Amino acid sequence: MALLDRAIVRVLPAIPRSVVRRISDSYIAGTTVADAVQVVRALNEQGKMATIDVLGEEVSGRREALEIVQAYHDVFEAIEREKLDSNVSVKLTGLGLSLAYELCRSNLLRVGRHAAESGNFVRIDMEDSTTTTETLELYRELRADGLDNVGIVLQAALRRSIRDIRALAPLEPNVRLVKGIYLESPLIAYQDYEEVRSNFVRCLRELLRAGSYVAIATHDQFLLDEGKRLVAAQGLTREEYEFQMLLGVRELAANRLVRDGHRLRIYVPFGEHWYRYSLRRLQENPKIARYVASDTLNRLFGTDSR
Ligand SMILES: Cc1cc2nc3c(=O)[nH]c(=O)nc-3n(C[C@H](O)[C@H](O)[C@H](O)COP(=O)(O)OP(=O)(O)OC[C@H]3O[C@@H](n4cnc5c(N)ncnc54)[C@H](O)[C@@H]3O)c2cc1C
Repeated sequence: MALLDRAIVRVLPAIPRSVVRRISDSYIAGTTVADAVQVVRALNEQGKMATIDVLGEEVSGRREALEIVQAYHDVFEAIEREKLDSNVSVKLTGLGLSLAYELCRSNLLRVGRHAAESGNFVRIDMEDSTTTTETLELYRELRADGLDNVGIVLQAALRRSIRDIRALAPLEPNVRLVKGIYLESPLIAYQDYEEVRSNFVRCLRELLRAGSYVAIATHDQFLLDEGKRLVAAQGLTREEYEFQMLLGVRELAANRLVRDGHRLRIYVPFGEHWYRYSLRRLQENPKIARYVASDTLNRLFGTDSR
């Protein structure tokens, strides 16, 4: 990332919300279930599957966490009613993890059971490292309760992930493998771009060897190519793995995957709590400085310089 872009990333939290909202619009489906339905329908028409995320990591009370649970119920109903090819992704902080473990467990169970009743699937997103152990614990508890329609996310940036894969192997977990977005200490996380990449490949090999269903979630062309090579070497059929990408990122590469016959799922977030998610996406956008500058010019001079 260029120097100017890095500088912008540092000051992102100081940029007005309205600006963040405008330039991160393409990463978010909208604020309502109807918005998400519309986006997912269009993706399905292009041969892409979806995973719908109710944005909610900024919740601060039990009532808000329950509202997120209710929103997932509405999402399952919409998926069934509209016959969409979509599952859901949940963030445990949105279900109350930072308020109380038991509250989160009961909220997650409700979402998981509703998914099971409607033949659907719940992916538990992985948040920062302060939540990793509890997230994996909750995943194990759900599986012990007989909920097999639940999957997790593991982050290649974390040094512990390879051990987590080995420890979870007997459960043959359904895993989304990602690089990991959160800034973590060098004591627990690889910092170097190439190190994260090579640990991603190592984790992917280990998961495939263990017989896990893997969702290879990346926009990194090197890892997309490695992923394709490894699933072919393993002799997997089209239904035995998938690629995943985020809404609004590398759409041409996404289309190429579909054209080449791979299954691809797009992460579709929607909701009122869009701010933190948007900041993370902007922080990863290699052209962030240009977008911020053009938006500022646009506001100053009333032109659209994008
Ligand atoms: C479906 C999905 C679910 C995810 N779930 C989680 C999760 O639960 N927990 C977690 O920690 N992380 C999650 N992530 C984020 C992930 O950890 C990475 O931070 C993110 O995918 C960027 O890494 P990358 O592998 O795409 O490689 P990068 O090297 O970051 O990106 C490769 C290229 O993609 C393009 N690109 C990437 N991001 C953007 C962007 N925002 N805007 C424009 N272009 C971009 C750029 O061209 C970049 O050079 C998820 C990612 C995906 C795709």
